[in-house]
Amino acid sequence: MPDFVIPVTLKIFATKKEITDYFNRKPVKVIGFVPTMGALHKGHLGLIELAKQQSTQVVCSIFVNPTQFNDPKDLEKYPRPIADDIRRLEEINCDILFNPQVTEMYDDNEKWHFDMGDLESLLEGKFRPGHYQGVTQVVYKLFNIVKPDVAFFGQKDYQQVLVISKMIEKLHMPVKLVMCPIEREPDGLAMSSRNIHLTPDDRKNSLVLSKTLNWVKENFEPTKIAELQQHAIQTISAAPGVELEYFEIADGKTLHPATELSESVVALVAARVGKTRLIDNILL
Ligand code: AMP
Repeated sequence: MPDFVIPVTLKIFATKKEITDYFNRKPVKVIGFVPTMGALHKGHLGLIELAKQQSTQVVCSIFVNPTQFNDPKDLEKYPRPIADDIRRLEEINCDILFNPQVTEMYDDNEKWHFDMGDLESLLEGKFRPGHYQGVTQVVYKLFNIVKPDVAFFGQKDYQQVLVISKMIEKLHMPVKLVMCPIEREPDGLAMSSRNIHLTPDDRKNSLVLSKTLNWVKENFEPTKIAELQQHAIQTISAAPGVELEYFEIADGKTLHPATELSESVVALVAARVGKTRLIDNILL
């Protein structure tokens, strides 16, 4: 066995045809897929590492999907450091980057609607109307282009995992979904491409989110759900520079308020810290 790693050259495709032709020429046993919007950090790289362990070839996509942004300013200022991203993908030996332009992915005035039930209007759905329609629209397209056997999504976007899982099930898509744990900074802040917008004060203030989630986990008892949720809401609402959108202790499958009978329970939070919107969650 050689004691060195032979580097793989990252193949970069920008069109559907290029990636389809590539896999037609070179069928692959297990295609692992990690869809992202770029500005790659350790959270994304963790997904790719896991994908490498479970697949023959790994495709990472970088596409800042306009249809999932309900705030045009958020779309405009979303970071796009593509040269750094390519370097990171090369360093971790990712096989393929799919990096299309918007015109490659969308025709003018395309229509899309996926019935995901009340996942569309709860929590993230309530605060970001239309967001999950945009997410399902792009992921459906990406799945049809990349044709993955396994797709890797982060627990960081817990509700997104439930929505994609529902889409796979309802549309009978032949894809296995793997949810990967949340990567955090050493002080607890969940990694996110949006964290670069945090000022030093925001950065300090943001810690109340992960600290409160941890506190709820440490004190969790199924009979104390309402009390814990109330305390968490008060703590975050009182924190400086933080505007709470929601803190919910929810059933892990439905995202309805958790009850003593819920088989899995998750605490989810969204808040604006300064001008930046952050989300986080913890399994209880
Ligand atoms: P994004 O580029 O923000 O659309 O994220 C792409 C994928 O990376 C999604 O499946 C996210 O849930 C996942 N992801 C983002 N941040 C993290 C994190 N801190 N830990 C684990 N996965 C993450």
